Amino acid sequence: MKLKDEVNKRRTFAIISHPDAGKTTITEQLLLFSGAIRQAGTVKGKKSGKFAKSDWMEIEQKRGISVTSSVMQVDYDGHQINIVDTPGHEDFSEDTYRTLMAVDAAVMVIDSSKGIEPQTKKLFQVCAMRGIPIFTFMNKLDRDGREPMDLIGELEDVLGIDAYAMNWPIGMGKNLIGLYDIYNQRIERNLNDETANEERMVAIDDNGEAIGDFDFKASTIYSQALEDVELMQEAGNPFDEEAIMNGQLTPVFFGSALTGFGVETFLDAFVDYAPSPSPVETIEDEKVDPLQEELTGFVFKIQANMDPKHRDRIAFVRICSGAFEEGMEVKLTRTDKKIRLNNTTQFMADARENVKEAVAGDIIGLYDTGNFQIGDTIYTGKNAVQFKPLPQFTPELFMKVSPKNVMKQKSFHKGMEQLVQEGAIQLYRTWHTEDYILGAVGQLQFEVFQARLLNEYNSEVTMEPMGRKMARWIKPEDLDPKMSSSRNLLCKDRFGHPVFLFENQFALNWFTGKYPDVELESLLETE
Ligand code: GDP
Repeated sequence: MKLKDEVNKRRTFAIISHPDAGKTTITEQLLLFSGAIRQAGTVKGKKSGKFAKSDWMEIEQKRGISVTSSVMQVDYDGHQINIVDTPGHEDFSEDTYRTLMAVDAAVMVIDSSKGIEPQTKKLFQVCAMRGIPIFTFMNKLDRDGREPMDLIGELEDVLGIDAYAMNWPIGMGKNLIGLYDIYNQRIERNLNDETANEERMVAIDDNGEAIGDFDFKASTIYSQALEDVELMQEAGNPFDEEAIMNGQLTPVFFGSALTGFGVETFLDAFVDYAPSPSPVETIEDEKVDPLQEELTGFVFKIQANMDPKHRDRIAFVRICSGAFEEGMEVKLTRTDKKIRLNNTTQFMADARENVKEAVAGDIIGLYDTGNFQIGDTIYTGKNAVQFKPLPQFTPELFMKVSPKNVMKQKSFHKGMEQLVQEGAIQLYRTWHTEDYILGAVGQLQFEVFQARLLNEYNSEVTMEPMGRKMARWIKPEDLDPKMSSSRNLLCKDRFGHPVFLFENQFALNWFTGKYPDVELESLLETE
């Protein structure tokens, strides 16, 4: 097949959600509908007691690398879907954010009894910064949740994104009659799984009423839903495809991942609307066309091996253009070194295989012995390509760090420098005394850092928790070191940029009140 056809089939996305909202369940439904698995309960071991094949690969057992479901590739309805996992719970780290740099769209799963929860909000903000389309799935409709109107309003109030309801629940929980499918202009009845689609779907007439003789038409739940839909259509946001593509408007789907109700309707609309791979910008502000022949890609995540006997790691590469073939030679822009890509993996739902071929939009894992850093660009062809650097994500947790053994300063510095460069953790120095401070978005990052420093660099460190802080960058020209106080510690990041670590929101408000003309940034493009 031609490159163009292959690339245009790709839909590369991440599911963003708070733990327990239903990410795993909806992923599983997707695999079921695509025919990749035959039985629900196989994605995560905890539910069925069995382990999914993808959890149980030999390499993970032998080497202790957990690449569990990092990326799943499945065929869905003629599209090649790549779902990139965003680790959550206790695994939440900068990698979780960086993963969002490698996708073209996001599916935001919200528990409709809870609404927007903290982790969803954080991940949403990263997607919003990128301006990628975000599709919302309001999950758990089989349970009594919050009013749909309320949930839609919350998207606008809390996240600041306009919403457009693609369908509307007719009842919920035990009284879930069905979905009023605004997008497809039909009603999808909540019948059991076995019911054929023809029976499940009911056409609607020009007045928006179900055509035919159905008991539910007498119910107040039904008439309430009709009223809501009418109100939404009169007073709500208009459907605007461009706004969806820019991430300014989110199409909202209601459903239940657990019972599968509404999931197929959602997925069908999603693959229709979600974009195929988009051009990626270089540091020269040029756009690399995904359909160009030359291969380009960037490293967005490096999974280190925690087993001290094996130093190898996997560098995850998002292919941005062209086609990859096993054994091909690429150049690494940062070092100008040639590298042959021999040992490469791609991640399928039911097996991990050596990839032979992959195209723009796909994600491949390269076995790495230390060549790659996060943000690295690889390319083929004559002209070197360097994509824009990945943003540095605002850490929230901080630790003072120092070597336990002062005689081993050298290995401490070396390890620190390499791990920081690799992107495993953020490093800051206090402005005056140059103390080392580590910043992370999740506790796990500190633990991994400490273990790797010991295993790989034989350096034992002492870590002293500083707790939560809010990091805000200040423009060097606005900086007056006298601005620093015990409530806003002045530091420099690893590029030397000045950054304040505020104790809390109160300290931040106080600062912005005192220096109203000073602009603070919460995210910084690296240089
Ligand atoms: P994750 O942490 O986001 O991956 O969430 P899971 O998919 O593991 O789901 C968390 C819990 O919610 C599990 O007990 C699921 O069975 C349950 N769950 C997921 N989707 C639904 C749903 O649509 N309805 C109901 N009632 N429970 C659900």
